[in-house]
Amino acid sequence: MVVTHNLGFPSIGKQRELKFALEKYWSRNISQEELLQTAGMLRKQFWKNQDKLDLVPVGDFSFYDQVLDMSFLLGNIPKRAENLSYNDLDNYFRVARGRSYVDESDCTCIQAGEMTKWFDTNYHYIVPEFNKNTNFKLQAQRLIAQITEAQKQGVKVKPVIIGPVTYLWLGKSKDESNKLDLLDSLVEVYAQLFKELSKLEIKWVQVDEPILVTELESNWQVAFKDTYDTLANSQVKLLLASYFGTLQDNLGLACSLPVDGLHIDAINARNEVQAVIDNLPDDKVLSLGIVDGRNIWKTDLNVTLLWLKEIYQQLQNRMWLAPSCSLLHVPMDLDSEQELDVDIKSWLAFAVQKLEELNILAQALNKGQASVVKQIVSNADAINARKHSPFVHNSTVQERIAQVNDELGNRQSEYKSRAKLQSKKFKLPLYPTTTIGSFPQTLEIRQARRDYKSGKLSTKKYTQAMQIEIQHCVQIQESLGLDVLVHGEPERNDMVEYFGQQLNGYAFSQFGWVRSYGSRCVKPPIIFGDISRPNSMTVDWTAYAQSLTKKLMKGMLTGPVTMLNWSFVRDDQPRSVTCLQLSFVIRDEVLDLEKSNINIIQIDEAALREGLPLRKSQWKTYLDWAIKAYRISANGVSDETQIHTHMCYSEFNDIIKAIAQMDADVITIETSRSDMELLDVFDEFDYPNEIGPGVYDIHSPNVPSVDSMVELMQKAAQRIPAKRLWVNPDCGLKTRNWHEVRLALSNMILASKQLRQE
Ligand code: GLN
Ligand code: ZN
Repeated sequence: MVVTHNLGFPSIGKQRELKFALEKYWSRNISQEELLQTAGMLRKQFWKNQDKLDLVPVGDFSFYDQVLDMSFLLGNIPKRAENLSYNDLDNYFRVARGRSYVDESDCTCIQAGEMTKWFDTNYHYIVPEFNKNTNFKLQAQRLIAQITEAQKQGVKVKPVIIGPVTYLWLGKSKDESNKLDLLDSLVEVYAQLFKELSKLEIKWVQVDEPILVTELESNWQVAFKDTYDTLANSQVKLLLASYFGTLQDNLGLACSLPVDGLHIDAINARNEVQAVIDNLPDDKVLSLGIVDGRNIWKTDLNVTLLWLKEIYQQLQNRMWLAPSCSLLHVPMDLDSEQELDVDIKSWLAFAVQKLEELNILAQALNKGQASVVKQIVSNADAINARKHSPFVHNSTVQERIAQVNDELGNRQSEYKSRAKLQSKKFKLPLYPTTTIGSFPQTLEIRQARRDYKSGKLSTKKYTQAMQIEIQHCVQIQESLGLDVLVHGEPERNDMVEYFGQQLNGYAFSQFGWVRSYGSRCVKPPIIFGDISRPNSMTVDWTAYAQSLTKKLMKGMLTGPVTMLNWSFVRDDQPRSVTCLQLSFVIRDEVLDLEKSNINIIQIDEAALREGLPLRKSQWKTYLDWAIKAYRISANGVSDETQIHTHMCYSEFNDIIKAIAQMDADVITIETSRSDMELLDVFDEFDYPNEIGPGVYDIHSPNVPSVDSMVELMQKAAQRIPAKRLWVNPDCGLKTRNWHEVRLALSNMILASKQLRQE
């Protein structure tokens, strides 16, 4: 018999119940008891959603983050959080976000743990902190409570935890000591944990070791061997889980570790499955992740079954089936969607539907295909309909893509000649000032957008309301004395959604929320078909803004790579092709702006870096097509048009050459918090074009002083010639209020004036 299981279920809830409960708790609108009650109710519902599986993950439910849960389970709590009064959960929130309650007194607030991305997903975890004195101590109450709670409800429990090697690898040593020195004592705590779990009559434990899909140095490979040798005598069975990619060099290692089963990502590593079967000792279980846990498309059950039947013949009872990774990365339930086009909806599967697919596949193998013939036929209909849908395929778009050539991505002249023309035309002073695009999104703006969406506000009234915002924004920028102005983006709630909603090929869910961190969720749009642009998307707003001022107005667009990386992307063609389609619609928008006399255009690529593959060996391929797509979108303009790009980071060390190849006239980046240290890369690499290293940390309510900004720019000027420097904030200002923004920008302008004099 084939065994079905799941690696993890989304915690946030169909209607984001957990988010709202957390936020109410933090603002003291509900008690801890009520928060715990909501959590218990949600878990009950989630387990019910999974009750057809043979094994159900427990321990995956998290109030904030699964890695932070692990830190608490291992007793690895930062010193600064140790002696605070109150209870465990409050301390947990303090490590996560600096404080538990919004109005918490300063004496119990602490520095929040660092947050970073979980592999190549948009989920963020709290980085474990280590030092040479780190002392692990098993504190498994939370996990054990969830297990007993589940057992009482008759759940077939399989606890899930992060494996010791991955846990160590994800953390940061705070005192430069070698993390691996901690391995032995860490593994000891895992051994104790397994002992405790066996007392609860747990048979299988899922131990996640996703770093097996990254390039591991030899000391980490040895760490794997040592760890699992030590844990080999556990009284529970261990299922070692890898996901998010291929094992490659680690394949032999993964197969040889003395555990009882191995889970692999059979979506991303389908071509390794046979090699794994060949290498895996035949007393071990192989769990195949055959339903995509990272995307929202239906599985083609016929194709998958055909393939699985072959493998089943080899593996027989050793074959398990699961999603490729935790379902944390997809929305919970498609049934909630009431407004999606019915055809498009029929092509999709969210977490609940993915588990249903798993059940159908297992039943087909266990009881014969006839037992699920209806489900398989209906799946085949949907798959077929999608394949041939006129919504998906647009021959005009495809023909245009087919004719793409390198010329399209080249500016007419090289930067130096363009810069001369632009400087003659724009007559900008030294250290010119600008902003990154958005200005404060006030309650009134958001209300107007909501009213427009719900039909309460007519198009005319809405347009008027936005124009008033634009006037306000332009006036303030003029009176402050900025050199290059923006319209302020009041009409955009999100830099991808705003464009996606005006393009063919994009769909939007109502409840397709995916946790990003803590109580924060994102709702990625869905790219289902060939992308085309029926009308210009920003020209009216930008031209209106330009009509209000003699100063230069900068047009503001989101780049193709960012549009791609922040969406659920179709899986029936390579990502690079979808990206290219996006690049053409942005290119057309750029050219329309240029025709309307907008001579400076910024194309934001906030998410370019986060699309980098997990393995460095694949970076070049990604960067090649990503940079090419960006260049096609940006570089069709005349020499006199100035192209800006913006990125919300500046860790460029490893990709600086690719960034330079984008050939933007000006790039603005985030640098204020790092004290310009991130600019070190420019010591070695002579970045050829203009650059605006952010001097105003827009993530903080603090207003930076003139001196601090002058000082930051002076540091920048040590590495980049002053005539190629711009002065600007780190990122858009939409989350700040007007009061802060006015003060900060006014200081920024004073700083720039002071720099000019020097
Ligand atoms: N132009 C966008 C803004 O200012 C850029 C946002 C971003 O980089 N994340 O809001
Ligand atoms: Zn940004």
